[in-house]
Amino acid sequence: MTAAVTPKSGCWTTTEPSRALTIARTETGQAAGAARDAAMGQMQVVKHRWVTAGDEHVRQSHQMLSGVVVERGQAFTNGCRFPCDFGGPAGEIINCRCVAAPVV
Ligand SMILES: [Zn+2]
Repeated sequence: MTAAVTPKSGCWTTTEPSRALTIARTETGQAAGAARDAAMGQMQVVKHRWVTAGDEHVRQSHQMLSGVVVERGQAFTNGCRFPCDFGGPAGEIINCRCVAAPVV
């Protein structure tokens, strides 16, 4: 038997699958971005490069960051230390598909 999930009164007004996808994509990106940054820290990577998905859906501010190199721990010009940085501005991390690549 399956139980229907229903919103509590006042929490949601509609069921929006696209909103759920946005939240899932953003939260996954944040976890992956933080894990990637931690892994680079363990490998003593000093600098990393912003890499976009390279398609028409990449936001303009991330297109401008494509290929930019900074030292790990320093913020890129959009305020994020790495793509999907949980400490960055929401407008820079929601639905972001960018990654950081180590510079060796
Ligand atoms: Zn992005």
